[in-house]
Amino acid sequence: MKRHATARIPSIVTGQGVWLYDEAGGRYLDAISSWWVNLFGHCNSRINAAVERQLEQLEHVMLAGISHPPAVELSRRLSQMTPPGLAHCFYASDGASAVEIALKMSAHYWRNRGQREKNEFVSVAGGYHGETLGALGVTDIELFKEAYSPLLRRSYQVPSPDSRQREAGEAPRDFAIRCANALDDLLARESQSIAAFIVEPLVQCAGGMRIHDAEYLRRTREICTRHRVHVIADEIAVGFGRTGKLFACEHAGITPDFLCLSKGLSGGYLPLSAVLTTADVYNAFYDDDVRRAFLHSHSYSGNPLACAAAIATLQIFDDDGVLEKNRGKAAYLNEQATALRSHRRVRNFRNIGMIWAFEVNNADADFAWSFSQAALTHGLILRPLGSTVYFMPPYVISEEEIDFLIAGTLKLLAA
Ligand SMILES: *Cc1c(COP(=O)(O)O)cnc(C)c1O
Repeated sequence: MKRHATARIPSIVTGQGVWLYDEAGGRYLDAISSWWVNLFGHCNSRINAAVERQLEQLEHVMLAGISHPPAVELSRRLSQMTPPGLAHCFYASDGASAVEIALKMSAHYWRNRGQREKNEFVSVAGGYHGETLGALGVTDIELFKEAYSPLLRRSYQVPSPDSRQREAGEAPRDFAIRCANALDDLLARESQSIAAFIVEPLVQCAGGMRIHDAEYLRRTREICTRHRVHVIADEIAVGFGRTGKLFACEHAGITPDFLCLSKGLSGGYLPLSAVLTTADVYNAFYDDDVRRAFLHSHSYSGNPLACAAAIATLQIFDDDGVLEKNRGKAAYLNEQATALRSHRRVRNFRNIGMIWAFEVNNADADFAWSFSQAALTHGLILRPLGSTVYFMPPYVISEEEIDFLIAGTLKLLAA
């Protein structure tokens, strides 16, 4: 807050497409989709209309002992579009809660199956899964974690498969296999106490946009199955087309035991999250004894307005050939980014789907903050992660807006 006292803090009053407008009439290109939630632009007319229609019908009802059509339709759609075998859906209101649910449900599954001692978790170095206590226990970002360490139950940790960390001459796939083998070694020793392995498929986003080879997911899925350990795929950031496929797990052709979704799920409109799981997990809780049931409630779980926004968002994927269009936009951005890619201050320029990232040379300790402040003066919302600058724009970004983004970023690097 002390920093904020002298900072430029735009007060946003309207939004349209990739643009946000402040009280003074200034406009900013939302190059990070408001922390990765927005897919089809601010004030999207189709999502607006769906939320307005729902508002005339029903604003909210508890999702306990009561159902409502938007939750049913959304569950059906999610189960159809996600990797095969995920036929059951549990709702909450944010990403961290979805992670808590997957962790609890996994441990409770083993308890119900008579293996109470399987209640530890394995996470990946550099991973991020949210900031409530359970989620923070499997997160590996020291800045968010350090002050709360006495409150946390730490998880086992395996090395990050981040391709940049491979040795000279080592192929990305070989490095991925080497990292997966570390999980195999750990589970060979400890699987009797481990419930689940949690991973951000393909891109560890908050940890610095670290991209890994899909082989890592294929191997770790096979290793976890062999050691009877669940896989929790946290696609809260990478789901819904961000990596170029609808879900990042598709790059590896795997089905996790739990799939956590949030962020883009409601198109960036309203807080909503879902955990999809398998019939095997569902059946482990299906019992006359209520203590064997999965009891986890949030007041706003499965809110009907949020579900209506989500259904409208998924309908846009059905109607608009979004992934195909995004390929064209990504190719355009990559073509226009040659000056950025070869800039003397830029290294590790990388892209997957609708995510771009690069490290900036000679970044000081305050770089992320000063860069994001300077970006505002060029009409850009950018929030570097340490010295890593990234673009994660709404999918509706036009070629002209891509030009604006690149030109502004080059000016920022020149300063
Ligand atoms: C953002 C994020 C979360 C947490 O979601 P919140 O809605 O912010 O609680 C969890 N996992 C990943 C991979 C994320 O990017």
